[in-house]
Amino acid sequence: MSVDLVISCDCGRLAGKLRAVSPATGARYVCHCKDCQAFIHFLRRQSDVLDRNAGTDVYQTQPSRLVIAQGIDQLQCVRLTAKPTLRWYTRCCNTPLFNTTPSGKYPFLSVICHCTDPNLRDEAMGPVRGHLFPAEAVGDMSGKVEAGGNRMLLAVLYRMLWERLSGRYKRSPLFDPGTGEPVSAPEVMSPADRLKLDATITEAVSQ
Ligand SMILES: [Zn+2]
Ligand SMILES: [Zn+2]
Repeated sequence: MSVDLVISCDCGRLAGKLRAVSPATGARYVCHCKDCQAFIHFLRRQSDVLDRNAGTDVYQTQPSRLVIAQGIDQLQCVRLTAKPTLRWYTRCCNTPLFNTTPSGKYPFLSVICHCTDPNLRDEAMGPVRGHLFPAEAVGDMSGKVEAGGNRMLLAVLYRMLWERLSGRYKRSPLFDPGTGEPVSAPEVMSPADRLKLDATITEAVSQ
C-alpha cells in the first residue's frame, strides 16, 4: 500500500508531500559519506539530523512524486564540492530537504527523511536497506549492513529511465520543466570554505 507522505521544513513555511510512497517506489538508506556529513554541518543541524555514526537517513525515489504546496521561495541549494550534486534546504530555518543531480533532465531525488512526517515515515518508506559509505562513518559500525554497489545503481538508473520515458520528470518542482535548470540558483562553496568546514567537522567529532 502506498501513502502520500507529508514533508515540511521545521518552521512550516515550506510544505508539501511525496505522492504514493511505498517501500517499492524507492529505497531507504543511511549515508555516511563525507559530503552528506558536510552538508548537515554546513546547516549546523548535526545534532538533530545526523545519527550517532554521522549518518543521514535518506529515501531515493522519483522526482515526479514531489509536490511543494507552499514556500517554494524558501528553497535554496548548494554545491559543496567539485562534484555536481545539488543539496537543497530551506533558507527560513536551515532544514535539509533533498539531494539531486544538477539538471532536472537526469531525474534523481534523494529525500532527507528528517523533512518527512515522522509518524508515517517508517510505514511509507519501509526499513533502512543498509548503510552507504560505512568507511566514512564516525564510531562503531559493527553489525551494520553495507548497501550500495551495482544493485543500488541499477535501481537509480531504472527510476531515472522511467521518469524520462514517461515525461514525468517535468513535474519536479525543483527544476524548470523546459530547460532542466534548478529553480533556485545554486550557491557554490569555494574549496577554501570547504576546507574550513571540514576542519570544524573534525573538531566537532573529536570533542
Ligand atoms: Zn522553515
Ligand atoms: Zn552521502
